[in-house]
Amino acid sequence: MSEARLIDGRAEADNLRARVAAEVAELKARHGLTPGLAVVLVGEDPASQVYVRSKGEQSQAAGMHSVTHKLPAETSQAALIDLVRQLNADPAIHGILVQMPLPAGLDEKAVIAAIDPDKDVDGLHVINAGRLSQGLPALAPCTPVGCMILLRQTLGEDLSGLRAVVLGRSILVGRPVAQLLLQADCTVTIAHSRTRDLASVCREADILVAAVGRPRMIPGDWIRPGATVIDVGINRVPFDDPAKAAEGKTKLVGDVDFRTALKVAGAITPVPNGVGPMTVACLLANTVTAARRIHRV
Ligand code: NDP
Repeated sequence: MSEARLIDGRAEADNLRARVAAEVAELKARHGLTPGLAVVLVGEDPASQVYVRSKGEQSQAAGMHSVTHKLPAETSQAALIDLVRQLNADPAIHGILVQMPLPAGLDEKAVIAAIDPDKDVDGLHVINAGRLSQGLPALAPCTPVGCMILLRQTLGEDLSGLRAVVLGRSILVGRPVAQLLLQADCTVTIAHSRTRDLASVCREADILVAAVGRPRMIPGDWIRPGATVIDVGINRVPFDDPAKAAEGKTKLVGDVDFRTALKVAGAITPVPNGVGPMTVACLLANTVTAARRIHRV
C-alpha cells in the first residue's frame, strides 16, 4: 500500500499569510484602515516568549499595526484587566490576544471575559464560543480554523457527510474544531479520556483530528485506511537515538504515531510543520476579519 500524502502546513501557512498581506494592503489603500493586533505577555515563560515574538513579527510582516505588551509575572489581576480594557477602547487595535498560560494567581477565565468579543481574535470568549456553537458568525480559535483550512485543501471544499472523530474536548482545540466540522456538515464524534473503546471510535473516522497532548498515542491500526489525519498534538520527547537522548536532546512529536499512521492514512499532517504553522497565520486572518467587522468594510 502506498504511503499517505503529507499535508504541508508550512506551505499552506505561507499562502494564507500572503493572502492576509494582500488584504491588509487593500484595506489600507481603499479604506485607510490598518488592522491592528495587540499581544499581551505576562511573565517570562520561554515558550510563550517565542510564540509572542513570532506573532509580533508575522503581523508586522503582513503590514499590520502590531503592539506587544510585556508585563512582569507579579502583575495583578486588576492591572492586567485594566490593560485589556484600554486595548478594548483603542481604535487602532482590532485584535487582542493574551498569551496563555498566565502565571499562577491570575484568573485566565476572568481575563478572557474582559476582552471585547469583537476583538477576541483567539476566539476564547464565551460569546464567540456560543456564536460558534449556534452556527453564527464568530471569531473561532486559530488552531481549529487552521485545521479546517488544511482539511479543505486536502479533501476539497465539500466535507458534508464525512465522519469526523475529534480526540480531545478542550475549549482551545477539541470543542471548537468539532463545531467547525459540524458547520461543514460532517457527522462528528467527540472523544475524550472517558471514551470507551477509543480504537473502534477512531476507526470509524474519515477525518481524525487528534488533540490530546499525549505523544504518539494513536497507532496506525486505529486509523481507517485512507482517512485524513490532522495531528494537532505538540509533545516534546527524548530522541530515539540513545546517544542523543543521553545528551538530553529532545524533539517534537504529535499525538499520532506518525511512522505507523503513514502506512494506513490517505493524508496526514506531520509534526512539526503540520498544524503548528497555521495557528499564527490564522491569528492574522482573524485580526483582518475583526477589523473588517468593526469598520463594516
Ligand atoms: P488539553 O490538555 O486542554 O486537552 C486534552 C484533551 O485530550 C482533553 O479533552 C482530554 O480529555 C483528552 N485526553 C487526554 N488524555 C486522553 C486519553 N488517554 N484518551 C482520550 N482523550 C484524552 O490540551 P489542548 O486541547 O490544549 O491541546 C492538545 C494538544 O494540542 C497538545 O499537545 C497541545 O500542545 C497541542 N496544541 C497545538 C497547537 C498548535 O498550534 N498546533 C495549539 C494548541 C494546542 P478530558 O477532557 O476527559 O480530560
